[in-house]
Amino acid sequence: MQFSEIIGQESVKHHLIKTVTGNRISHAQLFTGYAGYGSLLLAIAYAQYIMCSDKGETDSCGKCNSCKKVEKLQHPDLHFSFPTVGTKSGTALVSDDFIKEWRSFIQETPYGAYENLMSKFDAGNSQGLIKVNEANHIVKKLSLKSFEAEYKILIMWYPEKMNAETANKLLKLIEEPPAKTLFLLVTENPGQIINTIRSRTQEVLIPRISEDEIFKGLIQRQLVTEDKARHISRMSDGNYLRALSLIETSEEAKESFEAFTQMMRLSYTGRVPDLIKWVDNVSQWGRERQKSLLEYSLKMVRENLIINQQKSELARVSDDESKFAINFSKFIHKNNAFKISEELSLAILHIVRNANAKVVLLDMCLRLNKLLKIVDE
Ligand SMILES: [Zn+2]
Repeated sequence: MQFSEIIGQESVKHHLIKTVTGNRISHAQLFTGYAGYGSLLLAIAYAQYIMCSDKGETDSCGKCNSCKKVEKLQHPDLHFSFPTVGTKSGTALVSDDFIKEWRSFIQETPYGAYENLMSKFDAGNSQGLIKVNEANHIVKKLSLKSFEAEYKILIMWYPEKMNAETANKLLKLIEEPPAKTLFLLVTENPGQIINTIRSRTQEVLIPRISEDEIFKGLIQRQLVTEDKARHISRMSDGNYLRALSLIETSEEAKESFEAFTQMMRLSYTGRVPDLIKWVDNVSQWGRERQKSLLEYSLKMVRENLIINQQKSELARVSDDESKFAINFSKFIHKNNAFKISEELSLAILHIVRNANAKVVLLDMCLRLNKLLKIVDE
């Protein structure tokens, strides 16, 4: 990971590079900031810069042997520690048992948070922890001489997940580390770290990313159009992870809108072969998605009734929804809106109870066909 791959954070990058060029690398540092700000990535890029054998003024070279190994998260002198779950023959597993999952987590979701890592571990409801045998493991690893690099570096993610026993075990190591050993702790909640550890670290504050940088990041990665990128960067709170989830929600909203308009058009015509095609398609979605489509449809029926009642100023619809409502609202009125809503609610209930989605949806559409034909008097 080179600094140039990380969105924004120019002043943090500048500060970190200066500690290296000025020979003032503090041996225990606490990177404090949300996952969506890029804290972990900055720690990795920092480690890569320190270890690079051909570093430039603003970044590691990205080409030397050391850089290549850090890029793959496979440098023998760069160690990772993070919360884990589960045991093997009675002993708690350590981070190195999950190193494959860890690598793919960072490669797939570089701005991912604690929850994203836990889902990689199939953790279910279990809480990830950094337990004492992890501390023993770290003490052992760091007591060895470095293999290739000048420094041995340990990046610990979510040190707030250490229990007291783990923290106490590591305290002495952090207080009096072996020569050329660095601890980079990366936290979201510095207040939850045991104070004896926290007070021995130098804090590096990772601020939110500027709106402008998020905008550039989205455009460079070609994730959305310029208009959308502007809107999303404004809503993102300087958090790139949040920006990504906003893209997902808006994609989902678009999909719901399209499925809803099709559902209503096809239900109105009532042509069974076309309806079956639509039902086949939607029945391949997950249940949660089907449920959220039906909930969205309930909302749309409500908004169209409001528009039908000539109270458009009260309707909360997007531009696309409002265009669709110009015609559709004529078919949703006081004589059928309640019954249509009932059909949709009933379908939600069946879907939640694991009924066969194809049957439920086709049934519902056929009933909507009759309801949509009721005339407004
Ligand atoms: Zn290099």
